[in-house]
Amino acid sequence: MAIETINPATGETLKSFEPMTDRQVAQQLSRAATGFEELRRSSYQQRSQWLRAAADILDAETDSVARMMTTEMGKTLVAARAEVGKCAAACRFYAEHGAAFLADEPADAPAVGARRAYARYEPLGPVLAIMPWNFPLWQAMRFAAPALMAGNPGLLKHASNVPQTALYLADLFARAGFPDGAFSTLLIGSDAVPRVLRDDRVRAATLTGSEAAGRAVAAIAGEQLKKTVLELGGSDPFVVMPSADIAAAAAAATTSRCLNNGQSCISAKRFLVHREVYDEFTDAFVAAMAAQVLDDPMAETSDVGPLATASGRDEVEEQVRDAVLHGARVRCGGDRPNRPGWWYPPTVVTDLTPQMRMWSEEVFGPVAGVFQVDSYADAVALANDTPFGLGANAWTADPAEQESFVQDLAAGLVFINGIVTSHPQLPFGGIKNSGYGRELSAHGIREFCNLKTVWMA
Ligand code: NDP
Repeated sequence: MAIETINPATGETLKSFEPMTDRQVAQQLSRAATGFEELRRSSYQQRSQWLRAAADILDAETDSVARMMTTEMGKTLVAARAEVGKCAAACRFYAEHGAAFLADEPADAPAVGARRAYARYEPLGPVLAIMPWNFPLWQAMRFAAPALMAGNPGLLKHASNVPQTALYLADLFARAGFPDGAFSTLLIGSDAVPRVLRDDRVRAATLTGSEAAGRAVAAIAGEQLKKTVLELGGSDPFVVMPSADIAAAAAAATTSRCLNNGQSCISAKRFLVHREVYDEFTDAFVAAMAAQVLDDPMAETSDVGPLATASGRDEVEEQVRDAVLHGARVRCGGDRPNRPGWWYPPTVVTDLTPQMRMWSEEVFGPVAGVFQVDSYADAVALANDTPFGLGANAWTADPAEQESFVQDLAAGLVFINGIVTSHPQLPFGGIKNSGYGRELSAHGIREFCNLKTVWMA
């Protein structure tokens, strides 16, 4: 894949970049190794200051950074500005709490015959971060802020269609004051990843992206005995039970499915609705999806912009076409608008059956599949009938049913009467083919640490 900025709203190629040579990559790895020595000896207080400086820069540059992201991958400018704000908040969160998350953990010294015994968190070293284009700043930041606070240099291999955002991130951390080599961007294609991953200077890897990329990276990391965190795809269920506030559920369903032009791993993608409220919910949902404004992502009034890549749009279109061919019903959307760029409208599809691709595949665009269920047991069975296990939403006013969903839904994140969202305060990650390991919260910052046991006589 060429490393270039192509505006998805027009299809126009705006800027192309030469991939780094092997020699240039080797230089970045050396800088990361040297930077690690300086970073790991810096105090938590110093790292907090650098992270707060990065947050201040993001605040000051919100509009220009947001415009860059909208230009590179098509999210609405309104959403892009919010993403920059979320990144600044994550920097401040780890600046404030990082030291406490990594504080020494005292043990019962007399019980192990010691004068003093404890466990301490130490950084592992340079971490390769392979990141996707859908939240080009946030996906990288939710790795970078905790990694840098822990003392681990970041080596970012970003998606090939967001090179300007990738370069901005390295520049941001340099200007915030982090030592040389603390955070670098590798402008390389995915074919160059295996070599970097096998390099001794790289101590671990994290990947957010597709299942295929996750398997490829995990296989090499396994052979190299390097730790990985994988955040892969999802096909999150959104269950609506009879006691739910149907109007609120339909509005939230629309927000969740159209978030980021439908390209979020934690968007609700399969809507499982109890037959008692099926018509009421589906009518309200279809009306709200049809009312979404699909237009220039730079316009403040747009709800949904184009998909990020031509291939992504073609894939979504093909999944809907396959469903229709096998008898599904399109309740709104379903036809690509006739304009340059990679547009696909908010779409609701009903009457899905297991032989359709949409039954089991993730749809990475603003397309909702609505299923009718007869009971709680039916809803849980269908919700869990997926190779993925990232997030799950359930809507019910019944407290006992809420607890049952929490226990029965097989997912890394369960949200009741609200849409699945990532917060720096909460662990984030999935099970099954959605990956393993956790980002964010205290758990995220500890993933790439050596928990060193110390015993002193
Ligand atoms: P990809 O997995 O193709 O791309 C993600 C990143 O991985 C990019 O940097 C890409 O580089 C790199 N990459 C791709 N293949 C390999 C490989 N074999 N070895 C090493 N690196 C590789 O994702 P898509 O662009 O297809 O994005 C959509 C998919 O990602 C969806 O399935 C979606 O659910 C998932 N995703 C999951 C998220 C989560 O948080 N769990 C968030 C966002 C997306 P390059 O661009 O150069 O190919």
